[in-house]
Amino acid sequence: MSLINVFAGNPLNRASELRSDPSVVAKLLAHPDALALPLWNGQILVEETVAGSPPQAPRLAYIAPGLGQELAGGLERLLFLGLWKETPVFAIDLDGAADPSQGPLNGFGVFRELRGLGAVLSGQEAGIAATAKGVFEWRRRHRFCAACGQPSEVADGGWKRVCPACQVEHFPRTDPVVIMLPVVGDKCLVGRQAVWPTGMWSALAGFLEPGESIEEACARELKEEAGLVTKAVRYHSSQPWPFPNSLMIGLIAEIEDGEAHPDQTELEAVRWFTRDEAKSLMAGTFAGAFCPPPVAIAHQLLKAFAQSA
Ligand SMILES: [Zn+2]
Repeated sequence: MSLINVFAGNPLNRASELRSDPSVVAKLLAHPDALALPLWNGQILVEETVAGSPPQAPRLAYIAPGLGQELAGGLERLLFLGLWKETPVFAIDLDGAADPSQGPLNGFGVFRELRGLGAVLSGQEAGIAATAKGVFEWRRRHRFCAACGQPSEVADGGWKRVCPACQVEHFPRTDPVVIMLPVVGDKCLVGRQAVWPTGMWSALAGFLEPGESIEEACARELKEEAGLVTKAVRYHSSQPWPFPNSLMIGLIAEIEDGEAHPDQTELEAVRWFTRDEAKSLMAGTFAGAFCPPPVAIAHQLLKAFAQSA
């Protein structure tokens, strides 16, 4: 694999064959070395940065699963993430108004938003945290059976929910999003949304719709948002984006040369950048304009374009 985007690269053996038997999961939970990563309202527990030279980056903070289970009150909020070598690794989904790091988890670390942590955690730890957050964001939004409306129950170590009323099984969702950089010759087109910070420009993006291929979604979005005609679509890389449940599918789109027109709904403006200008944009040296940081796949698409040809 040529590129692992931030939030991919979870190194755990997911050991999915161990999930389905509750007695096996219980045994893993009782393992003396087992670890549990607490999340609270979607935030991740990390050990704070230790000042020094060089300063140490934050790290995930694990607790014993027994303590986590006690805080969570049972198996409903527990996720078997997998094995690190022989060690079982779990995550615990905590919520409520009171910050547990100021209470029962005092001294273990602090809760931080994963978006910000993506840039400072190691790639492997960001991948572990993104997996836990992705499953728990799904759990929070899917506690009731989508088929009949009854409360569903957790199964498979947190990786499935089953409806006791109609027996339908529900699995974690991943919603695909196409994110693409339109290019023609020596220039690429970026857009900006009115809600973004002043001066920020990024790739164009949109959700796939049912009955649509990735290529078709890319062409539709470019037409809708900027009036562009797509000639060819090239896959670049993908990125789990657990805010709450997306997979970003990064594309480079060859387009026909011509006028671009922002739709004024999704995009308030579009702008062309040459390869050299794109390099300057990424380096933060372009006057009055900047792009998302390297943690974002949009940055990686710009980089791929700027470094090509
Ligand atoms: Zn049901």
